[in-house]
Amino acid sequence: MSARVRFVNAGKLYSQLKDELDAAYFDVMTHGDLIDRRHLRSFEQHLAEFVGTKYAVGLNSGYDALHVSLRAAGVGPGHEVIVPAHTFVATASAVVNVGARPVLVDVGADFNIDVGKVEEAVTPRTKAIIPVHLSGTMADMPSVMKLAERHGLAVVEDACQSLGASVDGRRAGSWGLTGCWSFYPFKILGGYGDGGAITTNDEAVARFARRIRYNGEDRETGEYHGHGFTCLLDNLQAAFLDVKLRHLPDWIRRRKALAARYRAGLEGIPGLLLPHYADPRFDHVYQNYTVRSDRGEAFSAHLREHGVEVLTQWRKPYYRHSALLLEDRGFPVTEAISREVCSLPMAVELDDAEVDFVIRTVRSFYGLEAAE
Ligand SMILES: *Cc1c(COP(=O)(O)O)cnc(C)c1O
Repeated sequence: MSARVRFVNAGKLYSQLKDELDAAYFDVMTHGDLIDRRHLRSFEQHLAEFVGTKYAVGLNSGYDALHVSLRAAGVGPGHEVIVPAHTFVATASAVVNVGARPVLVDVGADFNIDVGKVEEAVTPRTKAIIPVHLSGTMADMPSVMKLAERHGLAVVEDACQSLGASVDGRRAGSWGLTGCWSFYPFKILGGYGDGGAITTNDEAVARFARRIRYNGEDRETGEYHGHGFTCLLDNLQAAFLDVKLRHLPDWIRRRKALAARYRAGLEGIPGLLLPHYADPRFDHVYQNYTVRSDRGEAFSAHLREHGVEVLTQWRKPYYRHSALLLEDRGFPVTEAISREVCSLPMAVELDDAEVDFVIRTVRSFYGLEAAE
């Protein structure tokens, strides 16, 4: 059975943007602009402006953004890096792949790192912290920055899920040494393949990233400044992303409207927690609309059976995958979230009738009639 409501519908969104995306494609192809060309520069400039930093450097993925950032911060063997227990595995893998050790810390009710629990995980070897802004709402960055300053830690923001989110009006990706971005197709700003970037206010970090993404080479002088990688954002992807970035402010408004519709239809159901948090300093852009059901997997199974595509990230926390050799120090909030999470369809191409169908399906699971 094909789903009544799909989680995302990339084909539908393409048809809405077809003229602009096709024009970008023909421009790139006609000029043969493939590697490190004007579309990449243009997108980098617009991304930096949007985030509120001096620089943006396009990379091949969000993973690369994390990896390059850790290298820029001088993280390596013998160091520890604090990461949340509830995140995508790439946050921790980037730490392991520079030779350092991830030290996991539990999250709070907003799914983001519990800053109150970071202190006890800091040791003399701690070199950096990676707060992750999950699902479209930021970690408590004012507190993270204070703590990092107190302990002399570098801050690398894993902002892959929160482009456009802010705290006190200051956007994700503009607080730490770097902000790390992913343009994986299903992110809030998604390309048509892998893509990523860092944003930073530090000129030396931007220069380092521009070289390391191109095998260490300074493209103007041809000098190699170190052993690097091949992890450049494709010019073609940058051209598509530059088109989509223009629509992002509208899309964020649409996502907030969809979230408000879910809230109106679902608020007050006992056993169902919705992703609306009280602190008005935090602006949520709803990359995901992740609810928590006390009935766990049965809830997600019901939605799927009735034609609603949902995502359950992550039923098995990454530190429980034994091959990763990570230390489980006991993370009760992450454990509870992992049992209960269910992300409902949330994408700009959804229409109100589809959201209403999801709402009815959720309510029927709890034995309730449709609202109103
Ligand atoms: C998507 C994502 C990444 C990695 O992005 P890729 O582009 O797939 O490498 C890292 N961290 C978080 C929180 C993500 O959601």
